[in-house]
Amino acid sequence: MIKFFFFTTLLLTNLFSADRGKHISPFIRVAIITKAESLSLKTSSKIYVYDVKANQKYMLLSNSTYEISARSKDIIRVAGQNLYSPIKLVSPDGEERIKIGGHTYRGEIILHTDVQENLTIVENIPLEDYIGGVLSFEMSPKWPLEALKAQAVASRTFAIKNLQPDKLFDITSGVERQVYKGQQKVNPRIIEAVNHTRGEILTYKGKPFKTYFHSCCGGHTANNRIAWHETAVKPLKGVKDPYCKNSKHYKWSLYISKADLLTFIQKQGSTALRIRGMRVLKKSRSGRAINIKFTTDRKSFTVRTYDMRKYFGATDFRSAYITKISKKKYGYKIYGRGWGHGVGMCQEGAKSLAHRGRSYKKILRHYYPYANLSNMANLK
Ligand SMILES: [Zn+2]
Repeated sequence: MIKFFFFTTLLLTNLFSADRGKHISPFIRVAIITKAESLSLKTSSKIYVYDVKANQKYMLLSNSTYEISARSKDIIRVAGQNLYSPIKLVSPDGEERIKIGGHTYRGEIILHTDVQENLTIVENIPLEDYIGGVLSFEMSPKWPLEALKAQAVASRTFAIKNLQPDKLFDITSGVERQVYKGQQKVNPRIIEAVNHTRGEILTYKGKPFKTYFHSCCGGHTANNRIAWHETAVKPLKGVKDPYCKNSKHYKWSLYISKADLLTFIQKQGSTALRIRGMRVLKKSRSGRAINIKFTTDRKSFTVRTYDMRKYFGATDFRSAYITKISKKKYGYKIYGRGWGHGVGMCQEGAKSLAHRGRSYKKILRHYYPYANLSNMANLK
């Protein structure tokens, strides 16, 4: 059974906040936890549970633990009481912050049940505050300001592109979208990057597009159509990038034993019992391996590099940008460049460009050619 603990906590230090006085930011609903069977809520101060449908508030005491579970697709059980889904956690004075899995959240916390009778925790937060949180995890708060500004524009555009008003939430908070774990790492530099670019997004032909980004491209960014069979978008066609060369993520290597490779191709449908060779069969224009061919004791067998990365894990098999495969006694050593899918902005390159004095606008122009910098307020 999956069980999460979360806390309400009164923070003594101030969280830095993007200036919300002058402008009103739209909100985004971020799924913090999905598919939880039950939750354990620990309070360090008084907190209200608000049943929106019944318009009823229940007070939870401080320094107590409450069990929360889904009763049905419509009912959430809190401390022995059946409440309608969704419920909101509301602090009496607005000062409490909610901690989930060690991370601090400032937005409104909403709990839903779904048709599978699982719980989802959603934070409803002003978009600009969300962008600040994303920056603190997607880049280091210590990175140069112009790189943080470029990331702010890319992350804001990506968020806007992900809004799904008819769903329970707009975006998830893991690496599959953009990493978001609350506000505790937000610092004044990040606030400056967010405020300086407030409302700014990238558009192509008047519309925002999926402004993908990744850690390090290894010398050439990837084309989104070739990487994922998506519709081709000119700003995501892939560009040469000499700027991430000094990054520690520029080169990688990985040894995989013949036994592990054999298990992998068998799972992909090969009837082979022995691997005799392994080579890149087809490369994209950016230099990434599209597929890899194995010669075996049976027929040769071809796999997609995408599937191979997924199987061996993107942390070890860092990119599809394979430069060499060498045969070892009991396996193969794969040499490659960069880290991540390679589409859109290369964060390591953006950092290096910022160090060289380039503005965020120039950085964005390099990684998303043909895109325009627009303001959200002007979108139809
Ligand atoms: Zn790069």
